[in-house]
Amino acid sequence: MTDIFIRDADWIITVDAQRRIITSGAIAIRDGQIVEIGKTNDLEQQHASARRVIDARGKVILPGLIDGHMHSAFHLSRGLADGVSAQKFLFERMYPYEGLLTEEESYWSAMLCVLELLRNGVTTFIDAGTYHPHQTAKAVGEVGIRCIVAKSALDITKSSFGKLPERFIETTDQAVERAEKVVQEWNGAYNGRIRAWFQFRGIPNSTDQLITRLKELADRYGTGVQTHACFSRDTMEASKTQFGVPEIERLHRLGVLGPNLLLVHSAWVSPHELQWMIESDVKIVSSPSSSMHNGYGCILMGKIPEFLEMGLAVGLGSDHASSGIVDLVQEMSLEAGVYKEVRLNTGVMPPERVIEMATINGARCALWEKEIGSLEAGKKADVTLFNTRTPQWQPLYNPVSNLVYSATGGSVDTVICDGKILMEGRQLQTVDEEKIYDEIARLMPGILKKTNLEEKIRPKWPVI
Ligand SMILES: [Zn+2]
Repeated sequence: MTDIFIRDADWIITVDAQRRIITSGAIAIRDGQIVEIGKTNDLEQQHASARRVIDARGKVILPGLIDGHMHSAFHLSRGLADGVSAQKFLFERMYPYEGLLTEEESYWSAMLCVLELLRNGVTTFIDAGTYHPHQTAKAVGEVGIRCIVAKSALDITKSSFGKLPERFIETTDQAVERAEKVVQEWNGAYNGRIRAWFQFRGIPNSTDQLITRLKELADRYGTGVQTHACFSRDTMEASKTQFGVPEIERLHRLGVLGPNLLLVHSAWVSPHELQWMIESDVKIVSSPSSSMHNGYGCILMGKIPEFLEMGLAVGLGSDHASSGIVDLVQEMSLEAGVYKEVRLNTGVMPPERVIEMATINGARCALWEKEIGSLEAGKKADVTLFNTRTPQWQPLYNPVSNLVYSATGGSVDTVICDGKILMEGRQLQTVDEEKIYDEIARLMPGILKKTNLEEKIRPKWPVI
């Protein structure tokens, strides 16, 4: 018997191989999978006795969105790192914060992260890596979405920029062993909704040995391996100073460029590095909001339109709450707009391409495209319904245009993941939202105290 029959949707943007957009559409779901998708008229008889029928009149339906880069551990740091340089952002704000984060704080940070993602229509995210990946896995597992977790790893702790927290300091062996343990423990957990990968945090603070060993393990376990790459002039210069070559050239020489390597940002790359990236079919995630917040230059220097033009899988990520926006719908709008501006070319980033980044390309980046990323029979039932009875969706001539250029995640109405309804009519089904806010209020004073940031982040205007 059909579990859920969604019917009469105004528009279904399938992102399937033909990129079909179905009007008066329907989706039948059984055992967590899409069993049929098509016109309501063609499917209604067969699924009339479904356990649950969702009337989707006034709705636009998309595949569950995929956030390709998200630091779930940073969610309690919103507002702690505004208006500072990339060096200060890391060494004076985020590293002290993350270095002192307890297990409990990590759990509630991940919970808030998952809550915000879910409310904005995201059903899968790639966590950027944390020191408490089990807390992220637990939060995601309990709420019901999907995630790739990873343990953060770096083994070069000497930096010309500043001092790293104690917690970050590991030998190569420790970093490798602990990362492998996380993959063994969490890959496939919660009915396959959790996957676990390897991660090295950044290229300049990882030894050749750490990078090659983690890549070998990723190959052996059939997982991905991810890192931050080429996101600022500083990281490029640091790589040249320490290793004699820029970041991608170093990875090329180490022989680790490949289809299971996910490079986040990847803006400051030279033409020959770009060529190696294309030849090796690496995966890339673009995060415009974090570059804009931190002035990284990823948009000015970015090669995202070229990567896409040449067929590379480029996903979209909101990066972290400390750069403000955690809404992939708004991130789509930014991605569509910023390249038009800096290239003086309105055709450089079509809205269809941006939707692909947030769906099927995100699935390719997550190495999960056989199961998620589009609405097709046989795929997992990860579905996001937008309410078009809202000003931002009116008038509705073309849902692609409204979605990319005017909608926000605030118009997400219903979210289904793995065939389970997690939010309906904006009512959350598996999360006690008020409890999350209460816990955050309880934890905030302690975070301010131990990071010693209270003075630095006060409003500049008089508070009376
Ligand atoms: Zn990041």
